[in-house]
Amino acid sequence: MKDIPYKIYLDESELPKNWYNLRADMKNKPAPLLNPATLQPMTAAELSGVFCDELVTQELDDTTPYFEIPEEIRDFYKMYRPAPLVRAYCLEKKLGTPAKIYYKFEGNNTSGSHKLNSAIAQAYYAKKQGLRGVTTETGAGQWGTALSMACSYFELDCKVYMVKVSYEQKPFRREVMRVYGASVTPSPSMETEVGRKILQEHPGTSGSLGCAISEAVEMATHSEGYRYVLGSVLNQVLLHQSIIGLETKTALDKYGITPDIIIGCAGGGSNLGGLIAPFMGEKLRGEKDYRIIAVEPASCPSFTRGKFAYDFCDTGMVCPLAKMYTLGSGFIPAPNHAGGLRYHGMSTTLSQLYDDGLMEAVSVPQTAVFEAAEQFARVEGILPAPESSHAIRAAIDEAMKCKETGEEKTIVFGLTGTGYFDMLAYEKFHNGKMDDYVPTDAELQAGFNKLPKV
Ligand SMILES: *Cc1c(COP(=O)(O)O)cnc(C)c1O
Repeated sequence: MKDIPYKIYLDESELPKNWYNLRADMKNKPAPLLNPATLQPMTAAELSGVFCDELVTQELDDTTPYFEIPEEIRDFYKMYRPAPLVRAYCLEKKLGTPAKIYYKFEGNNTSGSHKLNSAIAQAYYAKKQGLRGVTTETGAGQWGTALSMACSYFELDCKVYMVKVSYEQKPFRREVMRVYGASVTPSPSMETEVGRKILQEHPGTSGSLGCAISEAVEMATHSEGYRYVLGSVLNQVLLHQSIIGLETKTALDKYGITPDIIIGCAGGGSNLGGLIAPFMGEKLRGEKDYRIIAVEPASCPSFTRGKFAYDFCDTGMVCPLAKMYTLGSGFIPAPNHAGGLRYHGMSTTLSQLYDDGLMEAVSVPQTAVFEAAEQFARVEGILPAPESSHAIRAAIDEAMKCKETGEEKTIVFGLTGTGYFDMLAYEKFHNGKMDDYVPTDAELQAGFNKLPKV
């Protein structure tokens, strides 16, 4: 066997030419999105008022296995992809484990995460349709940053509703978005009907993601030449993110490496769905078997303690219903520091796969995540995002099991991004001010009680 380098790079020519649509190989397809008024499956015509036409096609297609990546998107990808697959030799040595650990690093771009992979695709289709711009919401700011970069590249107007508390407390990401020409509005705002209503009822509110979604959707559907875009959860986003898994598989195949365990953090499920796509495809087709593990925060445990049911995708209950593992759209997770993982629901595709027993899930408490983050940073150099560090935690735990049993398992995990904008969270951790709040069964039940009766 060839010596395996620290970093497995691919050539530009090895950049995938197609995205892979995992749903095509699923026997049990994810349940369709439902119109909240009629409870009938959302049609392309209904969705096209909110999303770009080509993205609606991708959203609804669960039979076509490959979608060609348009050349304009591939050219943009070439600026920061293929992303390296790194053999974590230093971490393995530090842990004293016989396990072989690899991570796919998606933090090599200014937005600092994998979100750019879908942002650029969504901006491209909006431009191709002749739209003027797009609207979206952002919480901590990763998605808003990625979308601003994508929109400036295609000269599209980008309107971001940023949860007011983040807008005020996280000025750095806000200013990065403005560097790329986005307009950033603290939500709730006076610009929309729903924002004005919320401000009237709750003056002085610091906002929520659900409210910001409602404002972004209203602005898109009420403005000529605008559509709404979303950075996770949707099928189209998982499709674009399949580039992560396809590159990973090409890199592993080059050296004849077959992973035993594949691990990713799960917020809305897009990076995990993308990373596992080609591997899960092999598993679904009966060609290979892998252990696949989703890692979520113990404070927002959609998979491990949620219900598989139809629910609203947003707190404002304006978006379609999706059948997914959910804590209920009214569930407000305790403020934890992995902002990108604080979503009540989960991708419908991953939800179906989990329900069919094709993947596992674990939840991890916050301080254990930051311990793993620091352990990783000190030997591998990269300062990881708190979200990504959930995957690091699980990878280290699996590697330590190998140390006990002496098994030389191969572990691959997704390192979704860097944590430079999360230093307040690291500060809390260092000062011993971080808590490990876990919701009680009664708190979760309150969320389940409000699930729509479908
Ligand atoms: C948004 C984000 C996530 C979680 O989103 P998914 O859609 O579940 O992938 C994970 N890591 C980082 C760095 C993020 O920005």
